[in-house]
Amino acid sequence: MGEIISGKKLSKEIREQVRLEVEALKVTYNAVPHLAVVLVGSDPASESYVKAKERACIKAGMKSTIILKDESLEEAELLSIIDKLNKDEGVHGVLVQLPLPKHIDENKVIDAIDFKKDVDGFHPLNIAYMHMGREAIYPATPSGIITMLKSTGIELKGKDAIIIGRSNIVGKPAAMLLMKEHCTVQIAHSRTLNLKEKCLQADIIVAAVGRANTVTEDMVKEGAVIIDVGVNRVDGKLVGDVDFDAIKEKASFITPVPGGVGPMTITSLLQNTVKTFKGLVE
Ligand code: NAP
Repeated sequence: MGEIISGKKLSKEIREQVRLEVEALKVTYNAVPHLAVVLVGSDPASESYVKAKERACIKAGMKSTIILKDESLEEAELLSIIDKLNKDEGVHGVLVQLPLPKHIDENKVIDAIDFKKDVDGFHPLNIAYMHMGREAIYPATPSGIITMLKSTGIELKGKDAIIIGRSNIVGKPAAMLLMKEHCTVQIAHSRTLNLKEKCLQADIIVAAVGRANTVTEDMVKEGAVIIDVGVNRVDGKLVGDVDFDAIKEKASFITPVPGGVGPMTITSLLQNTVKTFKGLVE
């Protein structure tokens, strides 16, 4: 039976390290990293993500500000809020919770955030630097995936990895970061042919689709490492994209849902906020 990579446990350990680092930064700079989150509208999922981010920030000894705005907020007003946060020397991380209401152009908003404060790692400059293998702020979910893989102690170099999903926030950056770790990477998506055969070749499968049971036991090679990013509600229960119970018997390592990639995403956000702080003050 495969070993479960607990994102919950790993997160706890890393968040404690972050807290200690924040304490040390406070001594050195007489300041702590300050994350400002802008939430437009009242989508319940977004509200709960924003609250979870705030709780994690405070627990790590960082400062957190949430700017709540009504659904009707004009795009220009949001851009002006971002401009103020960019210019505020007391703010080190700026995050606009996505998705935004339809009348606001998300790309314009992402582009407007100072890339040095872009803790989500979605700004085109951070993405470009990541693709070039240069120092950058990496998106939180893929960063968490790499941290989880490294926590297993397996050698990533030379491994065949397949990422199922090609979104800008998970699939594509996860592929880049795995390539940076010297994996040989395939990216699959909804038009991919022979997904099963491709998965059977893989030492590492990252499922980031948003559809339960996309990866079944017959698609997995003995001893493969499975990272399940998906979050789906089936019969009121939270499940990932992979058939966990069957696959855990075959995999060498597997992440659960919940308690896997989810907590690691916020942990990576905290690490990114420390990184942007250091980039701005050092
Ligand atoms: P997304 O933007 O909807 O992308 C889904 C991807 O899956 C697309 O590239 C799509 O292909 C591909 N796909 C759809 N059906 C497929 C199929 N049958 N076979 C192969 N590929 C298929 O989703 P996302 O934002 O990347 O998120 C993916 C999942 O991860 C969601 O469940 C989301 O809730 C979860 N998530 C979790 C976290 C976390 O912290 N735990 C963070 C982010 C996302 P096309 O490009 O061809 O449409």
